[in-house]
Amino acid sequence: MNEIYRPADRIASIRPSVIRQFFDRGKGSINLGLGEPDFFTPRSIRQRALEVLQKEKLPYTANFGLPQLREQIASWYPGATAENVLITAGSQEALFSAVLAFVNPEDEVLISDPAFLAYPALVQIAAGRISTYPMPAPGFHPDLLAVRTKMKRSPRMMLINSPSNPTGQTLSQDELQSLSAIASEGHCILVSDEIYREVYFTRRPASLWDVTQQHLVISGFSKTYSMTGWRLGWVVGPGEALGRINLIHAYAVTCASTLSQRAALAAFTAEGEREREDLRLQLNNRRDLMAQLLQTKVKLPFVAPQGGFYFMLDVSSFGKSLDVAERLLQGGVITVPGSAFGKNAEGFLRLSCSASEKDIEEGMDRISKVLSGRKK
Ligand code: PMP
Repeated sequence: MNEIYRPADRIASIRPSVIRQFFDRGKGSINLGLGEPDFFTPRSIRQRALEVLQKEKLPYTANFGLPQLREQIASWYPGATAENVLITAGSQEALFSAVLAFVNPEDEVLISDPAFLAYPALVQIAAGRISTYPMPAPGFHPDLLAVRTKMKRSPRMMLINSPSNPTGQTLSQDELQSLSAIASEGHCILVSDEIYREVYFTRRPASLWDVTQQHLVISGFSKTYSMTGWRLGWVVGPGEALGRINLIHAYAVTCASTLSQRAALAAFTAEGEREREDLRLQLNNRRDLMAQLLQTKVKLPFVAPQGGFYFMLDVSSFGKSLDVAERLLQGGVITVPGSAFGKNAEGFLRLSCSASEKDIEEGMDRISKVLSGRKK
């Protein structure tokens, strides 16, 4: 490789994600590795986008985002005002800007094991150090004693995620309360990634905002409204913190897409709300279908999601999760090995129920065919 393109030290050890590698090799396979719903964006939002395109110019918005949209998003967080909302290019950019705004080189950032793949990469980009606490199977809840112990090392930031990618499990209000208290005592910034909060099945998960307004909540439109490609997310938190995050955000992206922001205002109409509930119920059906087929066809233990789209299938009796995922890929179905998310998810595969019902059915058939009678 041309020496001129040697990577900066901060990215030298970042590798393309395992998920991406499986996707790239799985052309033509049933994809149960997906992290996005395959629905159209609600009609009211698409309609609004068409109207905006036809009738309006699309200049930059303020760095913080459209005031009306900030106000509407604030209405989802009791007691928040527009001043507490920064609009970003997806929650991924919100995470990026929040980490870059506060984490100095060598600072520790505390994350769970298992955790969303992007967290360690973002910490590496900030030249910080990753510190982990266990969220052991099969419950996948944080070991609060371990969090307390790790907090003694004075991490600068702690990233939590509820409902979780990959485990599908949610943090209870009590757990959020404890985590918030532990972080505050340790002068550590707590960042709660709640991108899957509205994709729930029986009970709407608690938000960190319900227990404290001192820390940061990150979320977005991607999963709730099937709007992954529109790149629209936000940070909710104290105005002072948002000002710092905005310094990174403004120089990285200027503002989130004006078209996406204007169209997203339609989400706050009665029609938009009805369509959002409809998407949630369709995902509920997919979850039920996958649970039923895992029981009747695949016949292996699994952890069903409380929120988000991810099932954790216990394949520990078949060998390493990476090897099992590889075998399934040969059998025409893409899954994600648990080991990609941390050692506490080893022995599991992450399966997404955001695929179509037809794909879920075919995927379950293929999995049961590949795994039947092939224990290690
Ligand atoms: N957080 C988690 C836990 C995710 O799974 C994802 C998407 N895979 C994101 C953040 C980023 O989502 P977006 O940038 O589309 O809002």
